[in-house]
Amino acid sequence: MTAPAPHTVLLAAPRSFCAGVERAIEIVEHALTQRGQPVYVRKQIVHNVHVVADLERRGAVFVDELAQVPPGATVVFSAHGVSPAVRTEAGRRHLRVLDATCPLVTKVHAEARRFAARGDTILLIGHAGHEEVEGTLGEAPDDTILVEDVAQAWTVTVPDPERVSYLTQTTLAVDETTEILGVLRSRFPFLKGPASDDICYATTNRQQALSTVAERADLVLVVGSANSSNSVRLVELAQRAGTTAYLIDDAGDIRPEWLDDVRTVGVTAGASAPPGLVDEVVAALGPVCVLEHRTATEDITFTLPSSVRPS
Ligand code: SF4
Repeated sequence: MTAPAPHTVLLAAPRSFCAGVERAIEIVEHALTQRGQPVYVRKQIVHNVHVVADLERRGAVFVDELAQVPPGATVVFSAHGVSPAVRTEAGRRHLRVLDATCPLVTKVHAEARRFAARGDTILLIGHAGHEEVEGTLGEAPDDTILVEDVAQAWTVTVPDPERVSYLTQTTLAVDETTEILGVLRSRFPFLKGPASDDICYATTNRQQALSTVAERADLVLVVGSANSSNSVRLVELAQRAGTTAYLIDDAGDIRPEWLDDVRTVGVTAGASAPPGLVDEVVAALGPVCVLEHRTATEDITFTLPSSVRPS
């Protein structure tokens, strides 16, 4: 790096791994230890290139479809969850399934089943093509309509406006979702929703922590991979606050010209990015004063499935 080092790094906290990601990675690790190689994983276990590469080195085999898994083999479902159709296919192929779906995603699936069972049309706020959305849609495909943005919230139609519920992807931007929900509530006064927010604690906490940091920084670096929804939302949040922000997989992605005239760098990491990568990014910024800005303390943990829990 040739640009002069910035003076200050503001570290947003909480940042990096959430409880759902830690649990998912642990499930693959335990499976490798207890069942030996190979352990197949359907889709990326979490959306991070470093996590996936590390597990691959240790014997995990990532596949896009269950058809790539030999009959009878062990397969792990990723933290983003799967549709019932995928579970059925796994059963048909006699696969030994370990389910690493985050419990907070499982909660959304249960809500989808409940809302559909009472005859509601479900408006699912989320991003088309994201694995979590595909899984949730699969719970009630005939009764669920995806709403991706405010424009769609204004135009979506439902068979019976008095029987309509909403759900959200867990990793959305809190402020954008509030806006979409505002439109839906104005159009569907009978709209019902989950008892508690579907946008998860980890997403909310990371966004809140970065809000204050972004206001004070000349530049924000978000450690995370391009397909990580909550990491991309962090970049957008900083940009909406008027601060230049970049998504980086690791310190090697930092371009020297980004640091021209920059005195204060805000640093955070999406929920699927390993904490060690943040340390490497801070180290790469040179001799700096590091200040942590914490807005919440997280003590949530999720238990492992009994089939891999060490005795
Ligand atoms: S980001 Fe939220 S929903 Fe996703 S794995 Fe982490 S805790 Fe679970």
